[in-house]
Amino acid sequence: RKFVYDFTEGNKDLKHLLGGKGANLAEMTNLGLPVPPGFTITTEACNIYLDSGTEPPALRDEVSAHLDALERKMGKRLGQADDPLLVSVRSGAKFSMPGMMETVLNVGLSDGCVEGLAEQAGDERFAWDSYRRLIQMFGKTVLGVDGDLFEDALEEAKRAKGAATDVDLAAGDLRKLVERFKKIVSREAGRDFPQDPREQLDLAIRSVFESWNTDRAKLYRRQERIPGDLGTAVTVCSMVFGNLGPDSGTGVAFTRDPASGHQGVYGDYLQNAQGEDVVAGIRNTVPLAELATIDKTSYDRLLAIMETLETHYRDLCDIEFTIEGGQLWMLQTRVGKRTAGAAFRIATQLVDQGLIDEAEALQRVNGAQLAQLMFPRFDEEAERELLGRGIAASPGAAVGKAVFDSYTAIKWSRSGEKVILIRRETNPDDLEGMIAAEGILTSRGGKTSHAAVVARGMGKTCVCGAEELEVDTKARRLTVGERVVEEGDTVSVDGSTGRVYLGEVPVVPSPVVEYFEGRMHAGADDADELVEAVHRMMAYADRRRRLRVRANADNAEDALRARRFGAQGIGLCRTEHMFLGERRELVEKLILAHTDEEREVALGALMPLQKQDFVELFEAMDGLPVTVRLLDPPLHEFLPDITELSVRVALAEARKDHNENDLRLLQAVHKLHEQNPMLGLRGVRLGLVIPGLFAMQVRAIAEAAAERKNAKGDPRAEIMIPLVGTVQELELVRDEAEQVIAEVERATGTELKLALGTMIELPRAALTAGQIAEAAEFFSFGTNDLTQTVWGFSRDDVEASFFTAYLEKGIFGVSPFETIDRDGVGSLVRSAVEAGRATRPGLKLGVCGEHGGDPDSVHFFHEVGLDYVSCSPFRIPVARLEAGRAAA
Ligand code: PEP
Ligand code: MG
Repeated sequence: RKFVYDFTEGNKDLKHLLGGKGANLAEMTNLGLPVPPGFTITTEACNIYLDSGTEPPALRDEVSAHLDALERKMGKRLGQADDPLLVSVRSGAKFSMPGMMETVLNVGLSDGCVEGLAEQAGDERFAWDSYRRLIQMFGKTVLGVDGDLFEDALEEAKRAKGAATDVDLAAGDLRKLVERFKKIVSREAGRDFPQDPREQLDLAIRSVFESWNTDRAKLYRRQERIPGDLGTAVTVCSMVFGNLGPDSGTGVAFTRDPASGHQGVYGDYLQNAQGEDVVAGIRNTVPLAELATIDKTSYDRLLAIMETLETHYRDLCDIEFTIEGGQLWMLQTRVGKRTAGAAFRIATQLVDQGLIDEAEALQRVNGAQLAQLMFPRFDEEAERELLGRGIAASPGAAVGKAVFDSYTAIKWSRSGEKVILIRRETNPDDLEGMIAAEGILTSRGGKTSHAAVVARGMGKTCVCGAEELEVDTKARRLTVGERVVEEGDTVSVDGSTGRVYLGEVPVVPSPVVEYFEGRMHAGADDADELVEAVHRMMAYADRRRRLRVRANADNAEDALRARRFGAQGIGLCRTEHMFLGERRELVEKLILAHTDEEREVALGALMPLQKQDFVELFEAMDGLPVTVRLLDPPLHEFLPDITELSVRVALAEARKDHNENDLRLLQAVHKLHEQNPMLGLRGVRLGLVIPGLFAMQVRAIAEAAAERKNAKGDPRAEIMIPLVGTVQELELVRDEAEQVIAEVERATGTELKLALGTMIELPRAALTAGQIAEAAEFFSFGTNDLTQTVWGFSRDDVEASFFTAYLEKGIFGVSPFETIDRDGVGSLVRSAVEAGRATRPGLKLGVCGEHGGDPDSVHFFHEVGLDYVSCSPFRIPVARLEAGRAAA
């Protein structure tokens, strides 16, 4: 196995092995772009180190050979006294994890060659500045010294000099600082700063390996659903210097605006600075366009390279570059993160430019982004008090209480408060606080600052670089002129415009929802670019998808909305939702009925109500299938709470106030009380033990269908039996239902063609699907109950109790109630599909558990060959898009 690849040996498709950074540096090298020479150590080497605690034995020799080659290419050696080679040591995983892992720059500098570097560069200040940066970074990341100690020493040096920024420190000051830093290292790390450059290199490589497993990296991966076993590559690259004077500098850029998708020059540049200075927001950057006046040659070259990259990658790229004495170098590129809105716009723009086709465009967006675009925004008409404005870094409308540190953000959000995390700038330690917050607001840093990049990645609202806001994190307050925001005051942050408001600004629906609702039309004058892009992408998806998309809806209003959103029917109408409110008492009477007569009266009262519900529903979904599920939940849900009722009865007895009705009720409640209601008397079991209940529901469905038919409608009702475990249950209900339907057909003189099917939501049903299909015309997988029963996880309890611990331990990366567990629950679904179709080739198959609207699960249902997914109305566009993506 080969553990080290020269930049000339790799390419962009080796991300899993060389990390994004290494793979793309290789790609740029091979494109003939100016990349400083270097090599990359593979993720495999990292994984061996992390598993065994030592580097693979061959690694040392391979690094030596590549270092040798690099030294020959550069004409100088690591540690060479009169002209040292310096290298950067950078992390790079398959998926970008901005700022989560380590980087060490200027590796190779030591007491023995710092003067040589000064002479070579003709710049003493530069050499000492580079050296102090090395000791600082190495001390912090490799030797684990508290970074504040270095920062404090630097601040003190600046203060002593009356220097405003570190650029104002002279060579002599920096030389003294190097001595201070070395002392800090010796004292804090219990060892001297290593003077042997190869030892520096080896230790730096090792610490990059180890940074894969820092808490913040793990948390980030969990958040972004990045697998924990990928490992990081390590890129060793010859240093070029942006801190070599005013004709040097460093910057970051996007090939188009990552917030809107518009083409143009987007980026930040910092003169006379090195590497992380830009991202960290240490000094204020200038907009990239200003580079045109600072160094026109490099600027033009950069623009040409950006164009090459966009055409080559056929996508928005972000880049890091450095200019050393007027010479431009590319230090990194990757397909850039972007906002959800920009993703849609860029995908359609690239189709128009002929760079990608429609199928590829669908791969450039996803359902999570679409869901994000459906969130509400601030009402433009509403009164508001502008507090200030910053950079619109990540869109959305966030309202919450101001907090000034991550700890408080986490604590308050746990107790149910919505918070806005306000910082001068964020750093990787703020990750957890950022996750907890509704939105993030910083007073420093640009579109590429840590806060902006991470928030965009998480889809969280962020405004950064709001410079007029004075953030005092110690005092926990924010001041703008006369105005003061204390911790706990409400603020509203608009990540789409960069504006920040005092107090709560009301929110309105997003234009994308207005579009789906049919209140805004693509092609109309008032439709914005985003709506046009979404409209086109939905058309691409609809043209390709094989899965149909239905809605879970129980009333005409939801059904109509679902239809506007593109639903092709109702996959689940939960009839128990029709018995709530004042009708609950009628069900109570049914349960308490002692005689057939009493029962008939109760059923007779329910019947017309049910029928009217169905008439409305069939009318709303005219011409489309409507799957009506017979009553499912446990009976006790329709009775009063056992404790409350016991108290009431006891008090009445004490008053000698005998209430026959309450007594009977209490007896019934006791009788029906179950230890495990989810596994008790519900679903088909109810229908089999309460005579007439299912028959009444079937009659209501059939009569409603007949009424719609006679009114020249086109009702397409399907009757679904829940919680079936064996075909016998289904057969019993089926016989009864067929009789009732035949009666209604006779009485009304109509032919109804009502399909009868079942839910597959118990393991036994899935395991005997072949038998069940004998009696069912369709299956709908109830993956909520199926997940509950396959895992033995109570669906109402576990997410709040131990799932956090399970997620932290990596037992699963996401709750199986959210995304289908392909290996367990999924494999039962797969085999039930096969068995069902083997019995009945035309068997219609769908899913109506929550997973029907989950992007990853939709891909699974496409793969196993279901006919449709059914989900809540608001998720329908997401399911349509993902079904199209799955088929593209
Ligand atoms: C299911 O179990 O997946 C289902 C759709 O039914 P319910 O959620 O109503 O139990
Ligand atoms: Mg269920």
